[in-house]
Amino acid sequence: MGLLITTEDFIEYIKLAAHRIAGEKDYVTKLDAATGDGDHWVNMNSGFSAIVNAEEKLKTMPIDEALEVIGMIMMNKIGGSSGILYGGAYLAAGMKMKGCETLDEKGLYLFLVTMVEDMMQRGNARPGFKTMIDALYPAVEAYRSALDQKKDIKTLFSFVKNAAKIGAESTRNMEAVKGRASYMAEKGVGHLDPGAVTMYFQIEALCDYFEARID
Ligand code: ADP
Ligand code: MG
Repeated sequence: MGLLITTEDFIEYIKLAAHRIAGEKDYVTKLDAATGDGDHWVNMNSGFSAIVNAEEKLKTMPIDEALEVIGMIMMNKIGGSSGILYGGAYLAAGMKMKGCETLDEKGLYLFLVTMVEDMMQRGNARPGFKTMIDALYPAVEAYRSALDQKKDIKTLFSFVKNAAKIGAESTRNMEAVKGRASYMAEKGVGHLDPGAVTMYFQIEALCDYFEARID
């Protein structure tokens, strides 16, 4: 295994995720209109566009600082529940990684695990509540088990991506416990959770981008 992620690499991943989200306006808006208030795509797209616009400034920072600045941008620009959850999670990850210039495969794991733990605590949510956590949590579990089993990095990323995909898909049959869908009579059953879907897009972009950089 030999993953080395600089801030510049991380921004390239963000650009890919931003592009993926930008291309799914109608789909994500429709999902959030069915179980929420329809703004999730606008929220996420504004946040990711703002990070991409801050590229030049971010690139000069070590990864710990960049994650904190990304967290602040997310907090300010995403809005809604997602803004607080993503903003808080990136800030927590930046703090956890204090003193880190770059990330290796364990550092990337630490970033993801810190993110999911912070989101669960902040949102008072667990897997199975029909939220973005249902895509992130299984991805983090798959990452952990691939590290434990000393899988090669390409296999690791394919496991992580697949776990996030299955996790997002699993929200279709869940009854929402948190978020706007939990106020609906049928608790959103039959609909995918929009936050889980955009989380999957990010994990997919992350895996695709970093996997392509391994020879
Ligand atoms: P809002 O619900 O405030 O309009 P968004 O539309 O941007 O915010 O985000 C909705 C998504 O946020 C949901 O699809 C769900 O994945 C996630 N979400 C909402 N509440 C929580 C929570 N308490 N914990 C984790 N995720 C949550
Ligand atoms: Mg919404």
